[in-house]
Amino acid sequence: MTLFSRLPGVGEKTAQRFVLYLVAQDTDLSRRLADELVSLATHLQPCERCGNIAERGELDAPIHCSICRDEKRDARVLCVVAKIQDLLAIERSGAMRGRYFVLGKLISPLEGIGPSDLPIETLKRRLDEGPIEELVVATPPSVDGEATALFLARELAGRNVRVSRIASGVPHGGDLEFADQITLGRAIEGRKEL
Ligand SMILES: [Zn+2]
Repeated sequence: MTLFSRLPGVGEKTAQRFVLYLVAQDTDLSRRLADELVSLATHLQPCERCGNIAERGELDAPIHCSICRDEKRDARVLCVVAKIQDLLAIERSGAMRGRYFVLGKLISPLEGIGPSDLPIETLKRRLDEGPIEELVVATPPSVDGEATALFLARELAGRNVRVSRIASGVPHGGDLEFADQITLGRAIEGRKEL
């Protein structure tokens, strides 16, 4: 039993393989790996505005990611994603000039995740900060992704913000993270109002 098995996607067997591999190598690799892990944990933090990964700056300074700090971004468009990997995939497509909001999870009755588990109040506060005119919901085209998109549209109805949903094209049940850049770019450009 090693801590490796606590990492996502790593079972007991893989954890054991990591340990056996590291033991067979020069200790230099283990030492560099340990240093890198400590450095990641101390220098990177979730962005306080959007949930993306951000570099920790000066002490007490607000932690904002490079996208939130980028003045050239379109402040009128906010793209809602389920996870950071999806944000990175959309960034690679180059189709989103606005900023992001990472939900961290999707509504999933099977996993016992309900609407109240979403950071909806944080999202509303973010919208209150303005000047957002359009919210692009880029949750995956799965049952959970659609349920989350509909909930957001309903919850934010009546606000002075247009809620749109990325077009299909990403296969149903598909993961945005693994969609190719062109498909993802088209899905964003072809978004429709919810
Ligand atoms: Zn950010």
